[in-house]
Amino acid sequence: MHAPPAQAADPRRRCLVTGGAGFIGSHLTDHLLALGHDVTVIDDLSTGRRENLADAMAGRSGPGRLRFIEATVSAALAALGPGERFDMVFHLAAAVGVKRVLERPIESVETNVHETSALLRFVASRPPASDGSRHAATLVASSSEVYGKGARTPFAEDDDCVLGPTTASRWSYACSKALDEYLALAYHRQHGVPVVVARLFNTVGPRQVGDYGMVLPAFVAAALAGRPLRVYGDGRQSRCFCDVRDVAPALPALLVCPAAHGLVVNVGSDDEITIEDLALRVIGVLGSASAVERVPYAHAYAPGFEDLRRRVPDLSRLRRTIGFRPRHDLDRTILDLAASLAPPGAPAPGRRVTA
Ligand code: UDP
Repeated sequence: MHAPPAQAADPRRRCLVTGGAGFIGSHLTDHLLALGHDVTVIDDLSTGRRENLADAMAGRSGPGRLRFIEATVSAALAALGPGERFDMVFHLAAAVGVKRVLERPIESVETNVHETSALLRFVASRPPASDGSRHAATLVASSSEVYGKGARTPFAEDDDCVLGPTTASRWSYACSKALDEYLALAYHRQHGVPVVVARLFNTVGPRQVGDYGMVLPAFVAAALAGRPLRVYGDGRQSRCFCDVRDVAPALPALLVCPAAHGLVVNVGSDDEITIEDLALRVIGVLGSASAVERVPYAHAYAPGFEDLRRRVPDLSRLRRTIGFRPRHDLDRTILDLAASLAPPGAPAPGRRVTA
């Protein structure tokens, strides 16, 4: 359950969350319901999970009402009635994870571009709302992958994006997300849709699973099972991890902030940690007997895989627009993620609990 934040007094709004059964989408859905908004979730359950919405479906997330539509975004929107309209739209449905993108590049590119295009057309074609606003405020979730190898660190929203060659399929994801961004910003300029592009950095927390290659759930699952934590490369590459329970409330906060409309905004943490230190932190926090194992990139992904050495966001814009301040520290996130991965009835993982 999410603590009601500052917008709790907002009038009840009709929200659409695509990808709402996914890891980030389900936390966002819980948050919006806790604020008292009505939420329509569209998810084809390709990577989303119905159980992520268990609280929402049982009415435990908050006073808002939930409607769940199991379909692709384009199919679900095409089936909605002509008068159906939303006040806030959050487009999170997308192909997730570098691993999945490498395994299924055609599907990833097509899903990202086609579904985003369908969503933006839908928003721009709806009739005006009763309060006179022409279009739903629309947040398109993008990814820090768009920066590619990065022109400099930390990554700021107006920096150049430096992608590798088209023969390396890892960059197809970045390219498809960049197209989503172009489309969203074009709808803002050409049709006046109040759009925010949120470039999400490494987001972690309860309900996240390691199936799509994400490092923290993979480490936590290994530590819980007493298996080695597999650190790719030399382990000196670094990332900044932000708890999903801090990321989710930032998204509606950006959408109700007119100063953010028409902008790309980095969302995440700028607290940097190497992957090797992350492995040791997980082992320490969970009191695990697991070892750390080094795995060459060529074994972990494919020969020629290019990893990013450092990924650190410049958060000035996020702080300026919504005064963003994360509340969950990494130890807390590790413990809560472990609890969500542990089988039901298992003793609470960890030997050290932080506030
Ligand atoms: N990584 C790792 N072991 C794993 C999964 C990932 O060492 O089991 C590394 C990966 O090579 C990368 C970092 O952890 O350097 C973060 O990987 P993730 O896929 O979570 O995020 P991204 O690379 O997209 O930032």
